[in-house]
Amino acid sequence: MNENFKMKTSYQADKNGYYGEFGGSFVPEMLYPNVEELQNKYLEIMNEESFKKEFNSLLKDYVGRPSPLYFAKRLSEKYNTKIYLKREDLNHTGAHKINNTIGQILMAKRLGKKKIIAETGAGQHGVATATVCALAGIECTVYMGEIDIARQAPNVARMKMLGATVVPAKSGSRTLKDATNEAIRAWINDPVDVHYIIGSVVGFHPYPDMVARFQSVISEEIKWQLKEHEGTENPDYIIACVGGGSNAAGAYYHYLDNDNVKLIAVEAAGKGIDSGESAATSVLGREGIIHGSKTLLMQTDDGQIIEPYSISAGLDYPGVGPQHAHLFKSGRAEFLNATDDEAMQAGLELCKLEGIIPAIESAHALAILTKMEFKTEDIVIINLSGRGDKDLNTYIDYFKL
Ligand SMILES: *Cc1c(COP(=O)(O)O)cnc(C)c1O
Repeated sequence: MNENFKMKTSYQADKNGYYGEFGGSFVPEMLYPNVEELQNKYLEIMNEESFKKEFNSLLKDYVGRPSPLYFAKRLSEKYNTKIYLKREDLNHTGAHKINNTIGQILMAKRLGKKKIIAETGAGQHGVATATVCALAGIECTVYMGEIDIARQAPNVARMKMLGATVVPAKSGSRTLKDATNEAIRAWINDPVDVHYIIGSVVGFHPYPDMVARFQSVISEEIKWQLKEHEGTENPDYIIACVGGGSNAAGAYYHYLDNDNVKLIAVEAAGKGIDSGESAATSVLGREGIIHGSKTLLMQTDDGQIIEPYSISAGLDYPGVGPQHAHLFKSGRAEFLNATDDEAMQAGLELCKLEGIIPAIESAHALAILTKMEFKTEDIVIINLSGRGDKDLNTYIDYFKL
C-alpha cells in the first residue's frame, strides 16, 4: 500500500532524521562513526531512568523550572483576548537555551566524552554551554566569529569567567556560519573525545530531534499549567519567535498533532522583507543544505549563503531547522514576521504594561499581537524565550534612553 494513504502526516523526525523532505544527515565521512554513535544511542540514553532523574533534578534546582505561565492582564486588556506568557526569561542564564545545554552535557557524560565544543553567534549559546561545562567540570571550547567577538564583548567575558576558551573564527564573513565550520573541523580532529553541543534545532540528525526533545519541557509544562488556569490543556494559539527554531519547537512539541492548537512562528524581517537586510527564511529561503541538514535557506542563485540581518542577534540565522521547514511547507504552522521597529515597540510595550523587559528576540513574537485578530475568549500563549538584560545597549541606542 502507498505509504501516503495509510499514514497521517507526521511532524516528528523519522529514523533517518527526516521531517517530510527536510532534514537528514549530510556530514563529512570522517564524522560518520561519531554521528552514528550519537544517532544510535541518543534515544536510549534519554529514556534511561537515571538520565531522566538527573535531567529533571537539574532543571528544577539549577535552572529554576517549572518556569511560570503568567496571565498578562494588562496586555490582555489592550488586545482584548486572553494572553499568557511562558516565562523562559526567568531561567538561569536568562533564556530557554539552558534546557538544551543541560540535556546535552548529560548526554556527553553518558557517551564518555571528555571535551565540549560549541559554536556561538551572539554568545548566548556559548554562555549556556560554558555554564553547563563549569557545572560538570568538563573542558569547553567555544568557536565564535571574529566580528561577533568584537560586537559581543560582555558574553565573551562571561564565557571566560565560566572557564571556557573562546576561539575566533577568522575565515569567510567571520560570523556564525564560519564559527560553525570551525567547530565541525575541530570535531573531525578529535572525534572520540569530543562532543559538539549545537544550540538550536538545526544541523544533521539527531540534533534537531534531540534538541527539540530537550526543549519539549516547555510545552509539557504549558499543558498542566494551562489546565490549572483555564481548566483546559489546549490554547487556541502558541506564538514563538524563530531563529533556528528551538524555543518554538519546545513550545509546540506536545501540540503538534492537535490541529485545534494553531502554531504561529515569527521570523525577523529586519529592516523589511524586501530591504535585503532581513532573516525571514520562510519568505526568502529556498531548499538547500546547511550544517548537514536539508532545509529552507537564504541563498543566492548560485547557492551562496546570504548573510542574514536582524536587530536581535539570536534571530539572524540564514536558515530554519528542518522541522520548521516541514511545518511551513505542510501548513501546520503559520509563518509571520516582524521588523526591527515593530519588535522594539512591542518590547517597550511589554515593559510599560507588565513590568517585564523581554529579549529582543522574544519581542518579535510579541509584535504579532498588532497584526492578528483574536477573539475575546481565545487563549493565546506567547513563549517569552528570554530576558532583555543582554539587550540593554540596543534598547538604549534605539530609544535614546
Ligand atoms: C537564541 C535565542 C533565540 C533564537 O533561537 P531559537 O533556537 O530559534 O529559539 C530566541 N530567543 C532568545 C532569547 C535567544 O537567546
